[in-house]
Amino acid sequence: MKNENYDCVVIGAGPGGCTTAAMVAARGFRTALVEREKMPVEKVGESLMPETFWVFEKLGIQEEFQKMGFVRKHGVQFVSAEDKESRPFIFAEHDDQESANSWHVERIKFDQMLYDTAARKGASCLDETRVMDVQFNKNGRHSVIVKDKKGDDRTMKTRVVVDATGQSSFLAGRMGLKEINPDLKKAAIWTYFRGAERAGGKNPEVTCILSTKTKDAWFWYIPLSNDWVSVGLVGDNDFLLKRGCKPEDAFKQEMENCPGLKRRVRDSTQEGKYQVAKEFSYITKEHSGDGWVLVGDAYGFIDPIYSTGVYLALKSADMASNAICDGLRRNDLSAEQLGSWTYEFDAGTHWLRKLVMTFYNKDFSFGSFMKEHPQYAENLTDLLVGKVFEGNPGAMFEDLDPWIEGLRSGAAASA
Ligand SMILES: Cc1cc2nc3c(=O)[nH]c(=O)nc-3n(C[C@H](O)[C@H](O)[C@H](O)COP(=O)(O)OP(=O)(O)OC[C@H]3O[C@@H](n4cnc5c(N)ncnc54)[C@H](O)[C@@H]3O)c2cc1C
Repeated sequence: MKNENYDCVVIGAGPGGCTTAAMVAARGFRTALVEREKMPVEKVGESLMPETFWVFEKLGIQEEFQKMGFVRKHGVQFVSAEDKESRPFIFAEHDDQESANSWHVERIKFDQMLYDTAARKGASCLDETRVMDVQFNKNGRHSVIVKDKKGDDRTMKTRVVVDATGQSSFLAGRMGLKEINPDLKKAAIWTYFRGAERAGGKNPEVTCILSTKTKDAWFWYIPLSNDWVSVGLVGDNDFLLKRGCKPEDAFKQEMENCPGLKRRVRDSTQEGKYQVAKEFSYITKEHSGDGWVLVGDAYGFIDPIYSTGVYLALKSADMASNAICDGLRRNDLSAEQLGSWTYEFDAGTHWLRKLVMTFYNKDFSFGSFMKEHPQYAENLTDLLVGKVFEGNPGAMFEDLDPWIEGLRSGAAASA
């Protein structure tokens, strides 16, 4: 059993872990990034929010990003159950700067790029290395026990442990901090199509959100490079997975309910397996402790609908790394110091969570609300872009909340 000494050990090499490790290592701290799988890892989560731009800029990878051949994402479009397309929310129409457009990424390439960035900034990157245990010591030298790629046990000594293990929530799970959101018990089934319809001519590529006829589920439609499109179905866990058929058949049944999707994939071939995820929406009751902090999905996950996951993983990594480096410099690695950013983070993500809950209100339509309240178009775009940590991102809800209340009482009265 070998011993190694670090200032910071980051567990999990997704976007959250790689970014934290890169940012801490870049400031001269001895940092290790530990990933249980062999890199690169295939994952869901391909549509990025434009606000990711600022984190990429801090990492200095904007230029590299441009060369990766990812498809540009210019906006978001909603498609009704009758295949009626909303006017797309084109980000650049509201904020015509470089940061206004985003990307549809193949995660296998994207995560590898972030992993390489962490290594380039000086982090020791160890894949096929699984964290088996973490022991916190009063003397501030904590032990992260790993099984490395040869199957040997190693103890890594560190002053800070970052849990960036995504939905596995290594520390949060062990500490009993995870709370599943009872209002968002959703599941997803996704696969890939080759040769499916995509924007042509003057129409820019966007992420589409397609409703099904019963409004019990929705599909994402994310055009990727090399003529692939990622298509995923999201609905209540019980509705999607407990209907007594295979996930693949549930997907096909709901596709029959969604003329917009049927048309788009008509001349394509479905490729790859049907994959499933469930109960992915949760919060954590505490986000830091003496010597540890959570980032990315390990901190919490809202819902796939507005593609917030990767952005919030990057943003939380950016904010957490500032707190970690400041704490390492001042020798204050208390829960308060390591979690000093979380109030601001929660205040911003609150509005995204509200937007998600609004979407799942069956009587609601953004089109109708915007017709009555066009003054909020910019506010809504800001939310879809991820601009929730500045200005007044919640302004729209002053009118939206009573509007929804009105829908509810109207529906109750007519029942
Ligand atoms: C159905 C669905 C659709 C989604 N669609 C989108 C989308 O379109 N856009 C978007 O932005 N987001 C999307 N997301 C969310 C996105 O996938 C996540 O938010 C994002 O990957 C979180 O990054 P992360 O770094 O926190 O965790 P992850 O990317 O999950 O990385 C965690 C890493 O930790 C490793 N790990 C776990 N346990 C250990 C251990 N004990 N030791 C070592 N390593 C360990 C794992 O192998 C993994 O590589 C979607 C999520 C779901 C469920």
